[in-house]
Amino acid sequence: MNCIAKVAVDLSLDREFDYLIPESLQSSVEIGSRVEVSFGKRQVNGFVVGLAEKSDFEGLKPIGKVLGEKSLITEPVMELARWMSSYYLAPFENCVRAVLPAVVRRKASGEKKQLMVSLNVDEASGLVLHKPERVSTANEAGSLVYEGKKLTSKQQAVVDALKKASPMLLSELTVLAEVSAATVKTLEKKGLVTISKESVYRDPHEGVQILKTGPLNLMSQQAEALEKILAAMNSEKPETVLLHGVTGSGKTEVYLQAIARALEQGRGAIVLVPEIALTPQTVDRFRARFADQPERVAVLHSSLSDGERYDEWHRIRSGEAQIVIGARSALFAPVANLGLIVVDEEHEPTYKQDETPRYSARDAAVMRGHRENCAVVLGSATPALESYCNAKSGKYIGIEMTSRVDHRRMPVMRIIDMRLEGQRDGKHGLFSKELIEEIYSRLDRAEQTIIFLNRRGFSSSLVCPKCGYVAECEHCSVSKTYHKARARLVCHICGEEEAVPACCPECGSKEFKYSGAGTEKIEEVMAKLFPKARIARMDSDTMRRKNAHRDVLAKFRVGKIDILIGTQMIAKGLDFPNVTLVGVVNPDHALHMADFRAGERVFQLLTQVAGRAGRGEVEGEVLVQTHTPHHPAIQAARRMDFEGFCDQELAFRKELHYPPFAHLTCITLRGKDESTVEKTGETLFYYLEQAVSGDVMLSPMVPAPISRARGEYRYQILLRAEKTGVMTRAIRRSVGAIKKWPKGVKCTIDVDAMSLL
Ligand code: ADP
Ligand code: ZN
Ligand code: ZN
Repeated sequence: MNCIAKVAVDLSLDREFDYLIPESLQSSVEIGSRVEVSFGKRQVNGFVVGLAEKSDFEGLKPIGKVLGEKSLITEPVMELARWMSSYYLAPFENCVRAVLPAVVRRKASGEKKQLMVSLNVDEASGLVLHKPERVSTANEAGSLVYEGKKLTSKQQAVVDALKKASPMLLSELTVLAEVSAATVKTLEKKGLVTISKESVYRDPHEGVQILKTGPLNLMSQQAEALEKILAAMNSEKPETVLLHGVTGSGKTEVYLQAIARALEQGRGAIVLVPEIALTPQTVDRFRARFADQPERVAVLHSSLSDGERYDEWHRIRSGEAQIVIGARSALFAPVANLGLIVVDEEHEPTYKQDETPRYSARDAAVMRGHRENCAVVLGSATPALESYCNAKSGKYIGIEMTSRVDHRRMPVMRIIDMRLEGQRDGKHGLFSKELIEEIYSRLDRAEQTIIFLNRRGFSSSLVCPKCGYVAECEHCSVSKTYHKARARLVCHICGEEEAVPACCPECGSKEFKYSGAGTEKIEEVMAKLFPKARIARMDSDTMRRKNAHRDVLAKFRVGKIDILIGTQMIAKGLDFPNVTLVGVVNPDHALHMADFRAGERVFQLLTQVAGRAGRGEVEGEVLVQTHTPHHPAIQAARRMDFEGFCDQELAFRKELHYPPFAHLTCITLRGKDESTVEKTGETLFYYLEQAVSGDVMLSPMVPAPISRARGEYRYQILLRAEKTGVMTRAIRRSVGAIKKWPKGVKCTIDVDAMSLL
């Protein structure tokens, strides 16, 4: 019998505590229950994440009472959490947390009006505001200065707590910071925080006007695709469909019509998009199609406030909303009677969560479809090799859409060899003559250009040409990126910044060389080359403000911007008919990444970026500037030869037993003391050697490609096997064999790892 409940208390603490389940509550405490427990001297609410027969602790307190009637987690979602826990070797408690938004876990049902406290932060600088509009400066000690006076330690504790999570419930904040509500109110008077009463219903789309659209007449390939998807939806057994359609082939329209059909059948649907903040267009299209019943569509994404997310989730739970659009975790939305799950851009690595549980939302979607007898559609112009092989082998139903809507032509891609360009005018220019000329011609014809470069900042390193000094991060094994507008050197791994030194710290020379151009530099050079053009830049530096992304895209749409420069933010899903030229600057550095998927990533990226061109009447053109023009991934992208790319890439993967021919698990050990990390890794490796069978390939431990990050040394062990189970069993046993895990060494296990950095 389970006498112990593991309870995550509502205090933003990332751990759970054991409580006794009193006899009288035996039948009502279940995983997912909201409960009241005593914590220290207080009564707090919590959430049951696990049950057990016994506890390692003594003197446990009993659960006070159960709040609400039933578990917050529906049975199918609970099953999915169990599957994730075993497949991804993640503690079940973490999986339970992952399937419920934090705000839903923490609030009892019906409890809607609460006081929320948020920190007043200046969005541009990231600094805490004193009075609204006035920015504080931190003194050397790093503590906040308020009108020349320091904050009291209690006030500082509130600010620190909010820096980690804002907004936060007032009731929670007072417990966490160990202060009274009066302290928080004082800070409100000073203008550092805002206390607000949450309204009853928060519509995340307030003020956004949407006109209803009707279904379009499908092109023949679309009609065929829809028919196959409907057949899969109505099939006796659950089926997964891979919809491979070139950019602009009208995949979204197919999803929309399939979902409309599911609704007619009284069934719900979940649509996953890679990063919703980056694809507002896609969300708008869904909301527009179902605009006459807006309450049926729920949107879940990271920029919702807690209150909005809470409401959206409960609208789904109550059955009011049956269509859910969202990023990764929307897969766990409590939609009843699912008819269809769509995973758009299924190849995107962002579907893999990069913290425990490290699940792939695409693979988990297929699993959810299986369990709930619902069809799953994976859509992409460049399917992941894993999915491609599953379609080839007949595990998935493969559907192809090879032509663009209205038979618009695919853009023509030209590769420009920048090695020759350098020789021609004697120096290394950033832009080739061709690209510059093509941009001029677009400006003349009032057509638009997109320039893509996957590197933000001004330059990726600052070098002293005299002595060879490179400004590196103290805590990470990378060089710091120079951000010119802010005149700072920034580490893109840990975020640490510093002012640009006046002279070289090694030799005192006052001249620096900046190498590796980023988007900021591209923008500066473009502005000089095309003084009359209206240029905008879109990367995570310029897009910090809420809605900044939407605003720039709106301007671009109405033609108020001629040239849009950006990182991968602009690679996805944008549909602007007047864009007739896409320039890709130096995709090479992605090819040099120490990752076996580098070629696949570059192929996908070029194909996706190219897909932004020529979506209107005028044919599109793509210019790729590269120093490795003959790289097979670049050449295949130029020929738009997906199959050809797959064939050669698969041959290479097969030879080396890489995915999709094997599942790959990456174990990373990290810690501040290098020798302890290394020793622990060696011990783990020793146990792994004993534990693995012949079906598992175990590679020796090596320093990770990013060998140090945030002050921690990182080592890696890779395992590969055709079946995941044999591998994860061996890992579980080996990790368990280390009886005393050394302090300060952390270990992450990434099953089906998407990134090996
Ligand atoms: P994909 O998702 O495959 O890149 P989209 O669904 O974005 O393609 O479609 C590209 C464009 O074609 C969109 O502007 C869309 O509205 C339009 N479109 C899609 N299907 C049709 C159709 N059957 N008739 C006319 N236009 C269509
Ligand atoms: Zn120097
Ligand atoms: Zn760093």
